[in-house]
Amino acid sequence: MYQFELSKWNSAQAFQRENRFKIRVWLFIITICCCVYTPLTLINYASGLYVICAFNVAFIVSLLTTGTFVYLTKEEPPALVVLITLVTLVFSATIPIYFMGITGALWCHPIIAAVFFVLPWRVAFFTNTAIFSFACAFCIMVLEPKLSIRIITSLVATYLLVGFFSARIRRIQRQLREASNVDPMTGAYNRRLLPDMLQDSFSKLKYDQESSVIAVFDLDYFKHINDNRGHAAGDLAIIEMVEEIKSNTRNVDNVYRLGGDEILLHLRDIGEAEGYRLVSKLVVILGNNEVIGTSSSAGLASLSSDINGVDEWLHRADVALYKAKEYGRNRVVAWRPELESMTLQ
Ligand code: GH3
Ligand code: MG
Repeated sequence: MYQFELSKWNSAQAFQRENRFKIRVWLFIITICCCVYTPLTLINYASGLYVICAFNVAFIVSLLTTGTFVYLTKEEPPALVVLITLVTLVFSATIPIYFMGITGALWCHPIIAAVFFVLPWRVAFFTNTAIFSFACAFCIMVLEPKLSIRIITSLVATYLLVGFFSARIRRIQRQLREASNVDPMTGAYNRRLLPDMLQDSFSKLKYDQESSVIAVFDLDYFKHINDNRGHAAGDLAIIEMVEEIKSNTRNVDNVYRLGGDEILLHLRDIGEAEGYRLVSKLVVILGNNEVIGTSSSAGLASLSSDINGVDEWLHRADVALYKAKEYGRNRVVAWRPELESMTLQ
């Protein structure tokens, strides 16, 4: 009845997938940049524009170094390598204005746009501010004032428009990501983040000796509330249950809605005895809440070194909850090894 199936949300796999995706994006950007910059560099060399050519080569070399690093280590490049690449990008984008005048300003626009969409927001902001500042300075130095004003105005327009839209898109992306982790009815987290957050507790136990506890709460005879008071009252009961649990725990503790009337509380940096006391107190609070209108049961499992992974930890809380129901409800049961053999499958 209370079985968890978390294999679909395996956190290690999710992390690897995300990392692989980031690395693919890095390699894609580097390939595109090299494809665009190499012919430009050759044209500049053929035209005798050796200073521009030198900056282009410096940019391509630092990009290729970054690419090789990412490809070989499968990790994001170190900050210093990124910084050198960005400095060479800023100068290879703006130096042409000094030597070629208006023709050299043409590439500044797509480069500003690409930087805003490709790089993290702060890095993009500083890189583009640098590109914009140097481009303006070179325009003022070499172009006649009227032409210089026109170019600078077009750069301002590109900078502001693309900056504005990329910031909007990033905000919408962030909101979507946050919304995808939250249950809309209660505001509790949904199951998506759960494996990663629980996995984190395993590392905390191993490296910082920080223990933690999970407790799965389930309303008793919740179906009766739906049947007798209506589905809306049932919804309110679940919302109130989450509110009570949140307001009686700390900010570091996380609350997840597993589905229906099943709520998981992840208590961090807490031992089993203290966790048991807190969860028992919560069961009393939930039972006294008139909006909820029914008691609840909870199964508790503390993290220990003999647990092999998130699924087993959740299974223990699940078994304990099953026993709390079996023993008569309105109580907390903490997992013990002997419960396993006593549980009917
Ligand atoms: P038990 O004491 O054994 O837990 O009995 P129960 O009646 O509470 O049984 P169970 O926990 O299995 O109840 C789940 C019910 O919750 C089934 C479904 O009709 C109802 N339910 C699931 N999601 C929602 C929801 O979002 N809103 C409402 N109102 N009801 C829900
Ligand atoms: Mg129930």
